[in-house]
Amino acid sequence: MKPIIGITMDVSKEKQYVLNNTYIQAIQQAGGFPFPIPTGMEEEQEQLIEMLDGLLLTGGGDINPLLFGEEPHRQLGEVSPSRDSIEVTLAQKMLNLDKPILGICRGEQVLNVAIGGDLYQDIYAQNEKDILQHIQKAPRGHLTHYVQVEKGSLLESIVGQTELQVNSYHHQAVKQVPKPFRIVGIASDGIVEAIESTAHRFVIGVQWHPEELVAFNDTASCRLFEKFIKSCKKGGIDK
Ligand code: MN
Repeated sequence: MKPIIGITMDVSKEKQYVLNNTYIQAIQQAGGFPFPIPTGMEEEQEQLIEMLDGLLLTGGGDINPLLFGEEPHRQLGEVSPSRDSIEVTLAQKMLNLDKPILGICRGEQVLNVAIGGDLYQDIYAQNEKDILQHIQKAPRGHLTHYVQVEKGSLLESIVGQTELQVNSYHHQAVKQVPKPFRIVGIASDGIVEAIESTAHRFVIGVQWHPEELVAFNDTASCRLFEKFIKSCKKGGIDK
């Protein structure tokens, strides 16, 4: 049996559910059973949690800053309270059961907010030093900036490298990361690009988009998805 991976969806202004096919394909390629989760699943959440073997928190718009105790900065983008709500709830419940979570872009930020951390609402307006171009103008498969990976981290053991080249599509980022999580990836300008839990078997958040790179056979991205799916199977992975 393939492990069932819940994949969170967005909802558009036209009231359509939105999910890039690259998330589905990356999960399938790694051996998982993709299960898209629409917003508004609050009533079904208990059954959902029981059914899922893993959770993929996907990319998207900004997170309501009231969730981490701040009022909206002028550069805050579009927020989706219904999506915030289901994603934060699912993340917390999966963490309580030690079921694997992979958070991508906004998903990494959701993960950090779910454990009581906070975010830069806008990395450009809220940093004094020069910040790299994190909203790349290159195509999604192009690798534009470096990430230093923490030695000895779960992420390093998975990707097998201490320096990655990644794509980048964000103007928000994780700020303070509470324990038992830690920062395991950082860009040359100091922006946090990856976090992981030290208390769960597989909970990783990355600020870049590995699902876009799987199709290009990017080694680190393929390994990240493969190990995620492996850890969702009964028995998990050897660390
Ligand atoms: Mn970046």
